Amino acid sequence: DGDRLIAADKRGEDLDSTMRPQSLDDFVGQKAARANLKVFIEAARGRGEALDHVLFVGPPGLGKTTLAQIMARELGVNFRSTSGPVIAKAGDLAALLTNLEERDVLFIDEIHRLNPAVEEILYPAMEDFQLDLIIGEGPAARSVKIDLAKFTLVAATTRLGLLTTPLRDRFGIPVRLDFYTVDELQSIVTRGSRILGLPLAADGAEEIARRARGTPRIAGRLLRRVRDFATVAGASEVTRKVADEALSRLEVDALGLDQLDRRYLTMIVENFGGGPVGIETIAAALSEPRDAIEDIIEPYLIQQGFIQRTPRGRVLAARAWRHMGLQPPKELAE
Ligand code: ADP
Repeated sequence: DGDRLIAADKRGEDLDSTMRPQSLDDFVGQKAARANLKVFIEAARGRGEALDHVLFVGPPGLGKTTLAQIMARELGVNFRSTSGPVIAKAGDLAALLTNLEERDVLFIDEIHRLNPAVEEILYPAMEDFQLDLIIGEGPAARSVKIDLAKFTLVAATTRLGLLTTPLRDRFGIPVRLDFYTVDELQSIVTRGSRILGLPLAADGAEEIARRARGTPRIAGRLLRRVRDFATVAGASEVTRKVADEALSRLEVDALGLDQLDRRYLTMIVENFGGGPVGIETIAAALSEPRDAIEDIIEPYLIQQGFIQRTPRGRVLAARAWRHMGLQPPKELAE
């Protein structure tokens, strides 16, 4: 749903590219990941070698693309970017790979959506920096090997389980990104407000941060929408009250859940008595693609302790019932 205000996907507006942090030190949050990357980058630079291939795993909008760009900058190499669904044919990937210079970063977003024929080409490229191409057809077909520059593949995916094992095994540096804390989001929003020239009180920043679903991209989007409301209302500063009014009108609730989250929770209560209910059934009942539900809606609800994934399906936790103003069933009472 491209119109979804809190959708963490990249369609629609985003934070200005000027709001993207430019260095690892500017990048807020993901402390462990940042510290590790810093070490690997320094080591690779020191040896003058290409960095090992890196795989970022985590829900949309947490900074995977941003970190990939920062890595290229800190390594002092070119950054080339594409995404899994865009690479239709093996030849498309071959063209990208043969244009890379030594140590360049090639970023492939949504790598789990690579077509299998393209994925085959990627294995020897990642492992031996070689392209194995078949030229011609039938009895005249022959294979040629082309040497590639030693590059670094930085890839992003929303869920590790979506990758084939051989692909997963070829990444030396897997990095999992987690949802951000309210404090971290507050500093991201505060920094964003300075770049936008928007007077934002500390309590206003905190309110936006609390309702941003742990996700910087959503924080940026909410900040822009709140700014629109503040402008129209003639508010000189965005306080908690101004932010709350704007976000409530946008139907983003106190925990950052929106209409689609609420439809998800309500549907499980009303149609399935709180679960367990399988993901396919949920997708059919909501008329939303299964992937979108698993990538965008569920991770935050799980992190917030609203739902649990069990072998028999999704089950609402007591906290979700209470959030909807309902009494949880007895067997759930903590
Ligand atoms: P992903 O690739 O994981 O979907 P992006 O890297 O595109 O996410 O980040 C989404 C938006 O959030 C970008 O506009 C980026 O500037 C902002 N952002 C992400 N992480 C941070 C962070 N740690 N600090 C500040 N802004 C961030």
